[in-house]
Amino acid sequence: MGRRIVVVGAGAAGMMAAYAAAHDGNSVKIIERNEKCGKKIYITGKGRCNLTNNCDIQDFFEHVVSNPRFLYSSVYGFTIEQTMKLFSDELGLKIKTERGNRVFPASDKSSDVINSLVKGLKLKGVEVVFNKRADRLIINNGEVKGIACGNKIYEADAVIIATGGLSYPSTGSTGDGFTLAKSAGHSVTPTYPALVSLTAKEKWVKELMGLSLRNVSVSFYDGDKKVYTDFGEMLFTHFGVSGPVVLTASSYLAKRIRNGGITMHIDCKPALDADGLTKRILRDFEMQKNCYFANSLDKLLPRKLIPVIVKLSGIRYDKPVNSVSVQERKRLAGCIKDLRLTITGTGDYNEAVITGGGINVKEINPSTLESKLVKNLYFAGEVIDVDAVTGGYNLQIAWSTGYTAGSSV
Ligand SMILES: Cc1cc2nc3c(=O)[nH]c(=O)nc-3n(C[C@H](O)[C@H](O)[C@H](O)COP(=O)(O)OP(=O)(O)OC[C@H]3O[C@@H](n4cnc5c(N)ncnc54)[C@H](O)[C@@H]3O)c2cc1C
Repeated sequence: MGRRIVVVGAGAAGMMAAYAAAHDGNSVKIIERNEKCGKKIYITGKGRCNLTNNCDIQDFFEHVVSNPRFLYSSVYGFTIEQTMKLFSDELGLKIKTERGNRVFPASDKSSDVINSLVKGLKLKGVEVVFNKRADRLIINNGEVKGIACGNKIYEADAVIIATGGLSYPSTGSTGDGFTLAKSAGHSVTPTYPALVSLTAKEKWVKELMGLSLRNVSVSFYDGDKKVYTDFGEMLFTHFGVSGPVVLTASSYLAKRIRNGGITMHIDCKPALDADGLTKRILRDFEMQKNCYFANSLDKLLPRKLIPVIVKLSGIRYDKPVNSVSVQERKRLAGCIKDLRLTITGTGDYNEAVITGGGINVKEINPSTLESKLVKNLYFAGEVIDVDAVTGGYNLQIAWSTGYTAGSSV
């Protein structure tokens, strides 16, 4: 006989869990507080939804920041290949793979990903109850019996919590899953905004707002110790820095950033060593002998960056280029190779792509995603203490954990 299964949350993990649970006569219901499914999926990948990463499985785990080992069972149990096959063969979504193995819908529309899932749920007879916010778990003798939304009780033989984390609360994820899990006796490891911009003390970042630097090398120091390094693209914002290399750094350095004492060092010209850069500066100076110093850097640096570098170099902007001393040239090269920022914190949940921390993985069976504390209670997606860098890995976590929980109930 089929079982009554209630999934809380119609996000990526919840929809996949319901899809996987709807077989053998099970009656599956999703409770969603919003008026429609997949509000967060809609905004993923800048509206294109980077739904997974077609990399090999070992490579996948290297992109998981928190608790990759916990995910072994669910990702090996429902792999990237199976995910892509499910979307293309079962749900009829045309997909394509782009640079960096990033997988998108062929239409470039995230709404097509949502629609394919909604269609699949309908075909399987899953009922979605909209505009209901689950606020209480019903637990009897260590076994879940249902979920309450105010006065309305939904009885169930199994409940899957897929409420997401705290990031982008406007999409419906406001941390309810953590409260529900705590009420069941679970511990929640401290949460924090991840894949998020960083704030800096230096006032001059404001002058650079909107400037994107490509092919830069960035290093982060905790006191004197280099703790993280990367190469790629970054962006200056009103209060600090963002862009791909910064977002990834924010996830790996979250704890250290909270503790303070982190500095970021940007090498704007990583292809040249200090000597090479000094020679290059000299060459540029020789070509513009009669210029003011500040006007001689056009070929070397983006225009917006020049006034900041001039200020930091301590060389008068209107000094004739031919009177800039060797020492000053060296100092200038130093500023370009080591543009330094004092990191004061991160942006908040309103702009964080993902939530770090979450329901403690030690209290969840990794093979089934069932709670070790309460029978027939399951968890899936971002609500669990797992997160990865950008590139489709986070949605793959949602698909794999959702599918595993759904097929385990
Ligand atoms: C701007 C942005 C871009 C992103 N781009 C990508 C990308 O391109 N690729 C990628 O892999 N990842 C991306 N991510 C991350 C990805 O979106 C998440 O990892 C993923 O959506 C998590 O899925 P989830 O189902 O666990 O949670 P969510 O998608 O947050 O879904 C949770 C659902 O539960 C509902 N809910 C919450 N509480 C309750 C309650 N009490 N009762 C009823 N319903 C409730 C919410 O309304 C919501 O619908 C992006 C995230 C953001 C913010």
